Amino acid sequence: MKTISSIKEMQETALQARRKGKRIGFVPTMGFLHEGHLSLIRNARKSCDLLVVSIFVNPIQFGDSEDLSEYPRDFSRDEELCKKENVDIVFYPSNDEMYRTMHSVYVQEEKLSIELCGALRPGHFRGVATVVAKLLNIVQPHTTVFGQKDAQQARIIEKMVQDLNFPVNIIIAPIVREPDGLAMSSRNTYLSSDERKRAVCLHESLCAAEKMCQQGEKDTTAIKHQMREIILKTSNATPNIPVEIDYVETADYETLQPVNEIKSKTLIAVAVKIGKTRLIDNVIIE
Ligand code: AMP
Repeated sequence: MKTISSIKEMQETALQARRKGKRIGFVPTMGFLHEGHLSLIRNARKSCDLLVVSIFVNPIQFGDSEDLSEYPRDFSRDEELCKKENVDIVFYPSNDEMYRTMHSVYVQEEKLSIELCGALRPGHFRGVATVVAKLLNIVQPHTTVFGQKDAQQARIIEKMVQDLNFPVNIIIAPIVREPDGLAMSSRNTYLSSDERKRAVCLHESLCAAEKMCQQGEKDTTAIKHQMREIILKTSNATPNIPVEIDYVETADYETLQPVNEIKSKTLIAVAVKIGKTRLIDNVIIE
């Protein structure tokens, strides 16, 4: 396995591989890898000859009041994990390498990024779309794998690739969870042990929503009401943990616009602050 930090070297390596007819698979991450990331890496490994994983905490997708400086990092551990997964190249650029002074071109998706996290994190998806566009031009993959964990992000990337004609196949892989249902996330490391116990309420609310849908409930007001109740319900095991709902939403999977009735493929998504940690999770109702 090789670690590359230079954009030029990464592009040349990708070009050479392509000339030899090799298929490039790519998994972009912000590092501090967990089983969720590893599942994407294994998924990508299946359909490529050269597997590239990028580790880059992208500063332009963080708002001023967000956790850029605290974001967990452990590059040597990530490198070891990538080695074990048979990754060929870890692309690990610096901020200066990715954003030279005077950087002034950005990618802005204008429809799917309005609701959900887009409404609460201004500029976030512009930062995400810009860095993914750059990474796709640098790594030049045939296939790139994203997680459904960040469902809105995955839809926006799919749309960017479609609208801007990037020659790449996008795979969206399922959410990997802890045994109690909490979706794996690098940010879970911020949680105290009581917060960690409380955090399972996101998944519980989504399971309840799924069950209501299976039982024929179509009214999303009723579903969202039930979900809010579950998230806010205090328990004796974890008293005094502040829980704040950013959103509980039901949205059309194609447009990401809120829906009042479940008629077609629907994304049910939640964003909740447990203490100071903001967690997101979702399910898709087919
Ligand atoms: P991040 O490092 O958080 O930017 O995530 C990198 C990629 O891993 C994104 O495509 C995420 O959606 C995906 N990912 C993060 N957590 C999970 C998870 N629990 N299950 C599946 N994919 C995940």
